[in-house]
Amino acid sequence: MFIGHFAIAFAAKKVSPQTSLGTLIVAAEWIDLIFPVLVLAGLEHAGIKAGDNAFLRLDLTDYPISHSLVAALGWSLLLGGLVLWRSRDRPAALVVAAAVFSHWLLDFISHTPDVPLWPGGPLVGLGLWRSVAATVAVEGLMFVGALWLYFSGTRAKDRIGRWGAVGLAAFLAVLYVMNLTSPPPPDVQAFAWVGLSAWLLPLWGWWADRHREPATAQPPPS
Ligand SMILES: [Zn+2]
Repeated sequence: MFIGHFAIAFAAKKVSPQTSLGTLIVAAEWIDLIFPVLVLAGLEHAGIKAGDNAFLRLDLTDYPISHSLVAALGWSLLLGGLVLWRSRDRPAALVVAAAVFSHWLLDFISHTPDVPLWPGGPLVGLGLWRSVAATVAVEGLMFVGALWLYFSGTRAKDRIGRWGAVGLAAFLAVLYVMNLTSPPPPDVQAFAWVGLSAWLLPLWGWWADRHREPATAQPPPS
């Protein structure tokens, strides 16, 4: 999944309005944010597969630190714990922990059985990715629903708040379509280097979200 994970971040803002969209993107995307770092560090491994299905181009042979169930639970506790420690905000910490773990659940639904339960453990995955149409339908609906929640639950304080957030949503949609239609990366190293740029997306979310406020907030007296 790609925009499905971002859908979780946008939707989570409705549940935890005090948490920055940037933090929520880090949470929902955490497992995929660290994956290219681990590949480039030589700690996780993958290959490129030929084929028409753009969702099945990565041969995910060895990625237990980022993507095993046990690791996902650990990352949820760690990131939720960090938020609790920094903010003393228990509901926000719970939302962040749940968003981190949601990544594993969505990957479990979409991946073919290559997701380990623990390092070296059984591989699971329900294989939604086998159908491009079904994946696009599920992710697309999630994304549209989540944007509706986000944009109805917050309002722009200024033009950055308006166009920064709309721009991020549009950019993600374009990236998704480009990924579906472009040729596979030449090798996994190239994939990982491009993947590092995903770290800019939470920054974009944080920047745009700072210029928005809860839709229920009283406008300042003029
Ligand atoms: Zn993933």
